[in-house]
Amino acid sequence: MSTVISNDNLKAAQAFHGNVCLGLPLGLRAGQEALQALNVPRAKDKELVTIVELAPEQFSHCFVDGIQWITGCTTGKNNLQVQPMGKFAATVVDVSRHIAVRVSYRTDFLKEFLNWPPVAAKWTHQKDFHPQPGEVNDDIQAVLTRPVAELFTLQFFENYPYLSPVMDWSHEVCSDCGELVIGSYTHSLAGAVLCPACWSHRVYAQVEEGKD
Ligand SMILES: [Zn+2]
Ligand SMILES: [Zn+2]
Repeated sequence: MSTVISNDNLKAAQAFHGNVCLGLPLGLRAGQEALQALNVPRAKDKELVTIVELAPEQFSHCFVDGIQWITGCTTGKNNLQVQPMGKFAATVVDVSRHIAVRVSYRTDFLKEFLNWPPVAAKWTHQKDFHPQPGEVNDDIQAVLTRPVAELFTLQFFENYPYLSPVMDWSHEVCSDCGELVIGSYTHSLAGAVLCPACWSHRVYAQVEEGKD
């Protein structure tokens, strides 16, 4: 299996993400490496779970979109988790086999990457930086074609302690606004079943009335 993301896949991922940047290919490459290491295809449903270690202020929006697109683990399917550790790493769990792989970008590569001019311009806040023509695309290709051993450290887990979230489809109708609300979000107050918004209106109204 090739380790290189095809041009069509790259274009589709960039269309999904909305811009051409260097965080997205980092996520694509990390996610693809994890799928290959586990020998699994992109998740159609919740058969995979991905846990990302970058926080939103650390490339995470771009990195996470690359991870989502390539692994099929998405916010919408609730099988993407962000547990910020400030690291360029992600763990992909194969839920039915209880195995997982943590894919972590190597320090020597990251030190180089963070000093590529278009990347350095971001974190050193060079607002007037303009990349050379084709420079960003060349850097993207460098991420996508670099040999795996130069990019990643892989850690395998044989019994990964992942518990699938329990689905809650129970539901009630709020006594005050009449909107349907999922059961675990309802509150009971004075014999009424309430949504969180109506519950807080009643509670704060009581507090107001209690004032002199
Ligand atoms: Zn981006
Ligand atoms: Zn309500």
